[in-house]
This record gives sequence, structure tokens and C-alpha cells, in this order.
Amino acid sequence: VKRIFHFHEGNANMKYLLGGKGANLAEMTNIGLPTPPGFTITTDVCREYYKCNGRLPEGLFDEVSSALKELEQVKQQTFGDPENPLLVSVRSGSVASMPGMMDTILNLGLNDQTVKGLAKNAQDARFAYDCYRRLIQMFGNVVFGVESHSFEIKIHEIKMKNKYQHDSDISAEDLQFLIDEFKQLIKYHSNREFPQDVNVQLSLAIEAVFESWNNQRAKVYRKAYGIPSEQGTAVNIQSMVFGNLGEESGTGVLFTRDPSTGEANLFGEFLTNAQGEDVVAGVRTPIAIEFLKDQFSEIYNQLYEIASLLEKQYKDMQDIEFTIENNKLYILQTRNGKRTAQASVKIAVDLSKDGLITKKDALQRIEVNQLEQLFHRSIDDQNKLDVIAKGLPASSGAASGKVVFDPDTAQQLANDGEKVILVRIETTPEDIHGVFAAEGVLTSRGGMTSHAAVVARGMGKPCVCGCNELEIDLKAKTFMVGDITVNEGDWISIDGSSGQVIQGEIKLKDPEISEELSTLLNWADEIRELKVYANADNGIDAKKAREFGAEGIGLCRTEHMFMSPSRLPIVQNMIMAQTFEERRVHLDRLLPWQQSDFEDLFHEMNGLPVTIRLLDPPLHEFLPKLEELLLQKQRVDLGVDTETNIKELDSLINKVRNLHEMNPMLGQRGCRLGILFPEIYDMQIEAIFRAILSSLKKGIEVMPQLMIPLISDVNELKRLRELVNQVAKEILGEEIKYCHYEVGTMIEVPRAALTADEIAQYADFFSFGTNDLTQMTFGYSRDDAEGKFLDRYTEEHILENNPFEVLDQKGVGKLIQWSVENGKSVKPNLKTGVCGEHGGNKESIFYCQQIGLDYVSCSPYRIPLARIAAAQSAI
Ligand code: ADP
Ligand code: MG
Ligand code: MG
Repeated sequence: VKRIFHFHEGNANMKYLLGGKGANLAEMTNIGLPTPPGFTITTDVCREYYKCNGRLPEGLFDEVSSALKELEQVKQQTFGDPENPLLVSVRSGSVASMPGMMDTILNLGLNDQTVKGLAKNAQDARFAYDCYRRLIQMFGNVVFGVESHSFEIKIHEIKMKNKYQHDSDISAEDLQFLIDEFKQLIKYHSNREFPQDVNVQLSLAIEAVFESWNNQRAKVYRKAYGIPSEQGTAVNIQSMVFGNLGEESGTGVLFTRDPSTGEANLFGEFLTNAQGEDVVAGVRTPIAIEFLKDQFSEIYNQLYEIASLLEKQYKDMQDIEFTIENNKLYILQTRNGKRTAQASVKIAVDLSKDGLITKKDALQRIEVNQLEQLFHRSIDDQNKLDVIAKGLPASSGAASGKVVFDPDTAQQLANDGEKVILVRIETTPEDIHGVFAAEGVLTSRGGMTSHAAVVARGMGKPCVCGCNELEIDLKAKTFMVGDITVNEGDWISIDGSSGQVIQGEIKLKDPEISEELSTLLNWADEIRELKVYANADNGIDAKKAREFGAEGIGLCRTEHMFMSPSRLPIVQNMIMAQTFEERRVHLDRLLPWQQSDFEDLFHEMNGLPVTIRLLDPPLHEFLPKLEELLLQKQRVDLGVDTETNIKELDSLINKVRNLHEMNPMLGQRGCRLGILFPEIYDMQIEAIFRAILSSLKKGIEVMPQLMIPLISDVNELKRLRELVNQVAKEILGEEIKYCHYEVGTMIEVPRAALTADEIAQYADFFSFGTNDLTQMTFGYSRDDAEGKFLDRYTEEHILENNPFEVLDQKGVGKLIQWSVENGKSVKPNLKTGVCGEHGGNKESIFYCQQIGLDYVSCSPYRIPLARIAAAQSAI
């Protein structure tokens, strides 16, 4: 087999064999771009290398040598020739791009002799010795494992000693001195000699690149992105060009579009008189690419042409590495550029409008899980900000709130309805309740991957971290920045997208759907087959949902209407009632409220279905906790609390004790409540039909769907359906002719799924409550599984995913499929869908499409995401 390909022998489709970098270098060579010539050792060889226990396969080096011969002829230089040496880079290049994870060595082929030849030919000794010290440094680091830091210290020392400002101030003599020091460093740290034999350099470098496939960074990266570890890396050997030849030279990076906004402008950075990683290393601040226009105007134009050529070639935004050697441009790498969600949407739409890709391609380019980024609140007016500090932009979105310094206070204030920003030196897992309660998090320590950052991103909360200008005094509950002191309770704002910390409250705006996103969503709607509904319990959410393109409400949780502070006492009285009559009195007070809630929903969803689920949770969820009541009783007994009526308290305690269940999730809830306390469901149903009546009168087109939760036997549904029909008749009277309503059920208990054919006889629709269905199918209590044993299960690959996040297709999915098939066998036009967290999850949406469900229902902010995922699943 062919183990080595010259760049002119390959092309972009050979990624798997040549790695991304090699395949693209080949492609660029073939379309005539100025790419320094070279060749690629295939990824096959890497796999062979590991099979031979980390040795270069038999005969490989001979093949490398003859490939090198060809290169020597093209370049008219010879590898290791003291007069006219050929220099090469040895570059890693995996199949999937893993930026910066593996190793590359530049300037290979220099030794104590050839460096003189290079100096003479370039008429620049400083340049030659600079290349040599870079080689020794990279080689020492990559091949011999000497920390780069040790080398950097030496460079720093020499600069300090001579009061040099820039690396470029270091003279040829200094460099020669450094080279000696570097060689000694290698000797000292690894007990090896920097090899003078250029062929030894080359073979060690190739081995080191293969080895770098298994370095720690690369492993972590592969795990995070699911890149298979048997893929291996290719090795690219490429003749050098030099950006460090003086002021007419330099090196840079260029994105063909802005990777953060997607704007169709060149975006990039450049450093004169520099080589390789200098741009990213951050030692010198690079200049923006636009400045090339003045200094290198022709090259700028050439880059501009190449950028658009490469975009056309790859039909995607490119991330390009280039070098200028004495005013001549070379392209060293191109790849599809990484980008933010915003940019990815804009770029996909723009490319499609330019005719480079189809609408379907554009939709498939979108990483749905990344789209969430787009739905954060942001700063309304950039101009009026009183910025006092800047930290790392760790989790995007902006927030305002009162400063608090500990999680407990954060929680207390938030419970009282206050907005708070949690300010900590750093956060630990114990702070989690405070993070939950806060609008945003600000820390003075820790980077983008610190606990605070990770947790905040997970919750979609704004976070600025590592803001080390802050001097936090936890005892005094203040922080200082410069001469500003901020006390607990003062208002501040943070912008997790820019890292800004701002004094005072600022105006925030709700996320909007950009023009491009809305175009893309329209395309999605043309293609998708699944309907997308929203989970919404009030008019505001319903309105938002409709703006985002919901085609109805798939789940209105009526219990949320019971939780508001003004209604809760009545709900509690209703639960406490001793007699049916007494209960009815309280229910009658709740009725008009429920009715107006439903009217709001019908109003917002005019012409679209609204699915209303009758009361689901166990009643004790509406009552205070027993421990709290007992504490209160203690205070009464001690005479500390003289306000509370002890008799009422005792009866409350009694009731709470009565309602206590060992396993509330499997207890008296869902339809079981409706059977035991028909008066509660009765009130809810009455409120629904009254709302229907009054909406009809206003000319609103209502499509009500009443949904009964937690059915496990057909007789439950039969009974409650009769109740619905009876109330409907009473309330609607003659109007019933004009009102089509449907009655359906949640399928969330395995037995319901298994007896779906019976249940379908009494159901117009099935809505799969996948949270409960997962819980009960696995026999996991969700609250006890997540963050506890489930983490271990996924870490140890007992389960591949958390089934509460990604729908379990094998088990839970089988129940769903069974229900759909058996339900439809009885009632062919039975409607089916999924509500619950899975409705907004990409993999789960794909699965719903695959098994032919009619709709998914998810929270309003996930609707755009669901529309796109639904379209992708139908392509
Ligand atoms: P990474 O995959 O980490 O980006 P690369 O192999 O792309 O590593 O090398 C890093 C940088 O080294 C390149 O961006 C380029 O600036 C420089 N480089 C690599 N090969 C050459 C070469 N043949 N001539 C000049 N510079 C090179
Ligand atoms: Mg690179
Ligand atoms: Mg449920």
C-alpha cells in the first residue's frame, strides 16, 4: 500500500487517510494556491505505528527519504546540506480537526553546520539563529518532553538582562548563547542530546507526532467531541517558508467571515517578523488583518481572492493560516472554521442565498444544541454603561441584581422576589443553590472552565469569572474595584458575553429572532413533518411561544396556576376542607381565576390547539413542609410566636401528616386525584368550558384538548371522560354543537403503554409524558437518580446517556412505539406526541420523527431549536 502521498497526489476527500490538514493542503496545491510543497504520511501508518508498539513500521523511513528527494529537487535544496539546507516542518493532522491538541515542529534540518549555510544564504545571521533556537525549543519540548516554560524563562532572562522589549530585539549573538543554553537544558532535563544528524531529527519528530495522538489534551478533547481513538493522526512534512525574515515578512490567521457574528467580512490577525505560533501564543499583540491593506496591499488583495476561492471550494467559512516571506504569500492551512451559534445561523443562510449550498444543507449545518446560546437576554443600550471591571466572558447573557456574597442570602432574597447577583471569590458545588437563585454569577478567581463557569453555562445563567480586579471582603460583605466600593445590596450588572461588570441596574432586552434565523426557521417549516407545540401555562408564555412559531400548546400544567402567592392560601383551604361542601366553597373561589387563565391561553392561541392537563401533583405539594410546621409549633409552645392560632396549626399538621406518602410520585396523584376528589377536576373542567364559551362569544376559534394524567387502566379514563362530557353538556348547553373538544390522555405509566389498544378507545390523543414514563420504566426516581447514581452509571458506561436527557429508545422507546401501533390499530386517526423535557432534545426529536409521531411539545425558548431539529430529522 501507498503510505506517503505528495500534496499534488491527494485531495480534500481523502481526509480519512491524509487527515484534515493533509487533505486540505493537497486540495489547495491542486487548485493552484501558493502552498509550500510537501507530503503526507497516512493515518494508516499511525495505526501501524501503534500496532508495532510505538515503532516506525519497517521500511517507512526509506520511503520518507525518497519522498524527501523529490522535495529537494523541487526546492533545489538538500536536507542536511551545510551550504544550501532544506528545512521542513513536521505537522500533525488528525481526521477531525483538534485545534492545538497535537504537536508540530518547525525548522527541522538545522544543526550547528546547516545554520551557517542558512545564515549565509539569507544574508541574515540573526534570522538563522532565531530559526535554530525555535527548532531546539520545539524539539526539546515535543520530542524530549522538556517543558516550554523552562525555555521561555531563558528567553525572558536574556531580555531582562539587556533591557530588550521585544523578542525581535534579541541579537544573533544572544541567540547563539541561548542555543547553547537550550541544548544544556535538554541534556539536563532529559539526559539526551539534541541530535545533529538531520535524519535522526526527522524520524524522532515523526514518532513524536504519532505519540502526540495519545497525549493528555488530545485524549480529553477526543472524549469531549466523541472522536474515535483508533482514527490516528497523519504526519505532514512540508518545506518551510519564513515569516521571521524581517519586516517584509510575517504570519497570520484569517477567517473568511466573522466567527462571532457571521458577518461576511475578513476577520483575522497578523504579526510581522514572526513565525508559527507567535500569533496565538499571546506574547506580542497581533494587529488586525485590515492593517495589511496599508503595509501589504497586494497581499491583502490576494488573500481576499483566496478567501473567497476557498469558501467556494469548501462551501463553508474557512479558518486559514498563512505566512508572508519577503512579500510573498503562502497558505499553510485551511479548515472549516469554528463559530458561535449566531455566526453559524447567519453563515448558513448567507451561503445558501449565495447559491453555494441548498436550503437543506443550510439547515443541516446548524448544531441545534448550540442554538440555545441565542436565547439569552442582552444589554439594550451599550452607550450608557458604567463599566467598573472586566473579567472572563464565561457564560453569555446579561443580568442585573443586588450584590450578595453568600449562597444562602442569595436564596433568601430570591425567595422574597429579589433579583441578586452572586459574587464569590470562586464557587464550589456547595454554592449551587445560590447559583440557582441568582440572576448571574461573578467571581474574582477561576477561568472559563472553573466550576462557576461550567455550572452557570449549564443553567444558561450569565457568568463573569476570573475578574481579578475585584477585591472581595467576604466578612465585610463588600468588594472594591480601584477606589469604588460596592456593598451587599447594591445593584450591579454583568454581561457574560463581554465580561463587563457594570455599576447599577441596566436595561435588558429579550432575545429576538434575527432575520437570518427567521429565514432559516421558515425553511425548516417547509421541510419538517412533526408539528411543534409549546409547554405553556399562562398568556405571557403562550404569546412568546407563538412568536417563536409554536403551532399550539401541547401541555398546560394547571397546577402552576395554583402556585401563585395570592391563590395558594385558597388552594390550601380547599385541601384542608373537612366536608365536600366546604371544599366546594373554596373551589368556587378558584374557578374564576382558572377560567381567566384559560381565556388568556385561548386568546393567544386563537385557531390553534390548546392541551390542558388536569391537576397532576400530589396535594401535599401545596401545603407547607411538616418540619417547618413543627418548628412553628415549637415557637408557639415556647411563647415566642403569639400570633398563630394553635388549633389551626394543629389541624394543618394533622392534614399534612395524613397526606404524607412514602412514595409521592407513585401515590395519590394524577387521575387518582380526579377519582378521589371529583370536585377538583369538576371545577377545572367547568373553568375550561366556561372559558371556551366566553372565548367563542368573542369570536375566538378555540381548539380545546383536555388531557387526563397518569392513567394506568382504561377504566380511569372511561370514568373521567364521562365527567368531562357531563360538565361540557351542563356548561355549553346548546353551544355544544359549535364546540369541538377532544379528550386524551398522558401515556406515562408502563401499564398504560402496554394496554394502549384499550385506552385508545376512550382517547382522542396520546401525549407521552416521557419524564414519568422514563422514571417508571427504569424504576428510577428522577430526583434520587440525577446527580447521584446516574452520574456513575454514565461515567462507567453502564448507560450511555442520562435517560432523562436523551430518550431511551431501547426500552422507553419500545413502549412508545408499542402504544402508537396498538393505539392506532383501534383508532387510526389517534394523535400522538411527546411532551416533557425530551420534546426539546435533538436526538429525541429525531426519534419521534422516526416512529411517526405527530408532534413534540417543549418550552417556548426551545421551539426554534425543535423546529430546526424536526426539519433535520425529515431530511
Ligand atoms: P496546529 O495544528 O497546532 O495549528 P500546524 O501544523 O498548523 O499546527 O502548525 C502551526 C503553525 O506553524 C502554522 O500555523 C504555521 O504558522 C507554522 N508552520 C507550519 N508549517 C510551516 C511551514 N512549512 N512553513 C512555515 N510555517 C509553518
Ligand atoms: Mg494550524
Ligand atoms: Mg407526568
